[in-house]
Amino acid sequence: MKLALIVAVFLISSVYTQTFVSAQESEYDVIVIGAGIAGLAAANQLNENGYTVLILEAQDRIGGRIFTDNTYNIPLDIEASWIHGKEGNPITMLAEKYGATTFHTDYNSVIIYDTNGDEIEEDRSDEMDIIYCEFEDFYDNLREERKKTNESDVSLQYVADKFIEYKEMTK
Ligand SMILES: Cc1cc2nc3c(=O)[nH]c(=O)nc-3n(C[C@H](O)[C@H](O)[C@H](O)COP(=O)(O)OP(=O)(O)OC[C@H]3O[C@@H](n4cnc5c(N)ncnc54)[C@H](O)[C@@H]3O)c2cc1C
Repeated sequence: MKLALIVAVFLISSVYTQTFVSAQESEYDVIVIGAGIAGLAAANQLNENGYTVLILEAQDRIGGRIFTDNTYNIPLDIEASWIHGKEGNPITMLAEKYGATTFHTDYNSVIIYDTNGDEIEEDRSDEMDIIYCEFEDFYDNLREERKKTNESDVSLQYVADKFIEYKEMTK
């Protein structure tokens, strides 16, 4: 399930260790900014081709937008977790190369729980799907409108608040 992270961990073990060793030296052929999967993959490739690489990462962990939280003793992907489109996807090749376990997920088999931990019935979840699609349209329109008038980008919270206002008004 945690394929992306597993892939990152393998990259980490091969790249980060070498990078750490490189960090003892005073000069590097290449400095990579960011230890997300792109930076790690680039550093790995450079390293395989004989370059000394230093990776600079702003956070106190590597992986960037690939992060699995284990606070509650269950692996919870806060960000990326799926390999979208298996064929020709380089992540698939990495998974195979490092023997990471993968399994098929089906969006139709998703189970949704409410904040009390009760399962949400299918009718209600269909309703939620419709609202979610409406929200996406609302978000896209708002973004396009703001682009036209050169207004700055806004947070997702701002859009959610505006969407709730809109839903209240159109009830
Ligand atoms: C909620 C969510 C769910 C997602 N789900 C999926 C999924 O299921 N499948 C999928 O394929 N993709 C998914 N993605 C997208 C995927 O996570 C990203 O495309 C991918 O992780 C990006 O990798 P990256 O290395 O390009 O960037 P990042 O992972 O963002 O890494 C960039 C790194 O650079 C560091 N950095 C930035 N600036 C500096 C600086 N100036 N100095 C030092 N360090 C710096 C950052 O701290 C970070 O660690 C998801 C993304 C999100 C947010």
